[in-house]
Amino acid sequence: MLRPIKKIESAAALNATQKMIQRFALWLCEPGRSAEKVTEAEIKTLMKTPQEAAWLWSFLSGKHNGKTHLQRAKYLAALSANQKSRLKAWVNATTNVGAYFDLTPTGKQIPVDSPFIKNKAAKNHWDNLKDLMEAFYLKGLNQGLAYLPDGNPTADKTKALNYQTFRMDFIKYHQLDKHEFAREVCVMCNGELRNTSIDHWIPKADYPLLSVCADNLVPICGECNQSPNKGKKKVHTGGSFEDWFHPHLRHPSGTLIITHQTSDFGVALNTTRTSDAARVRNLNALFNLEQRWTREFKAEYRKLYNSILTRQQKKGTPLSLESLCHQLEEWADGLNPNQPHYEVHRVLAETLRDANRLMTWHAQLIDEA
Ligand SMILES: [Zn+2]
Repeated sequence: MLRPIKKIESAAALNATQKMIQRFALWLCEPGRSAEKVTEAEIKTLMKTPQEAAWLWSFLSGKHNGKTHLQRAKYLAALSANQKSRLKAWVNATTNVGAYFDLTPTGKQIPVDSPFIKNKAAKNHWDNLKDLMEAFYLKGLNQGLAYLPDGNPTADKTKALNYQTFRMDFIKYHQLDKHEFAREVCVMCNGELRNTSIDHWIPKADYPLLSVCADNLVPICGECNQSPNKGKKKVHTGGSFEDWFHPHLRHPSGTLIITHQTSDFGVALNTTRTSDAARVRNLNALFNLEQRWTREFKAEYRKLYNSILTRQQKKGTPLSLESLCHQLEEWADGLNPNQPHYEVHRVLAETLRDANRLMTWHAQLIDEA
């Protein structure tokens, strides 16, 4: 989050799908809705266009874990009036996440409990809801949504937004060096973007109605997205987002800084905005950034050390302090903001320029040569 993260144009198709999911979920919660009233004809009256209705009906016929999505939808429509009224409130409270990121704290919190009354059937209710809503991402986005990237409905699968096109559009938009063979940089850790996957900022396992929400999706590197880094960790404290950044809704906007930490010859994550201290701590804990960046800091130092040593050994003459300074400046001058870990390498350059550090370094190199 050192640099800006933008919602790309094709997010319009995700927004449209998010509205479809919310509309559909609330429709299932209507008091008069029953399993028998989840039919193709009824779906046609629910959706605004024939393309959306056809897409949703076809999606519902899909199967997952031995059950069709239609069976799950019918299951939810058949819940008691009380359960449906609770579910309706929960759907409304968990779909419009923007409400939790106002500039002035409102004290609003996202529900952390299950929408259903805690009894023997609660798990079954939840599993049906979760599987159905997650399928909009796992199957729906994967196979293509009901919308063109600009958010207009389409029946043409080849032109509809899907997982791959969204992922690629996002990567291309955020690519710092636009050359086809240039290394790409992860928007979260600023390391090399490898094994990219789409992260659900607020885990879809807890809030499945956010499975295709544009505000909730951000393609990041595999290392960032997996445990022991983000994995399925929560991004709120007991429902409150106050102490948390958000890639789209509360970006640190250039206030994060990396500083050298002398105690372990590593780096620390800091902020120029003191009121963000808790948010910085949480961001660091979420991705283990200091630990990962310190590893990079030390690895780059080792690389530089070895390259100076190798050059010196080939020359066969003792390394002068002047030559060491020169080689350091040459390397620092070549650092490029479009390359992975630029910020960490820049801190390394500053650290190595320190006179005492330079003398110690020089002595080490002379010793080893
Ligand atoms: Zn990353």
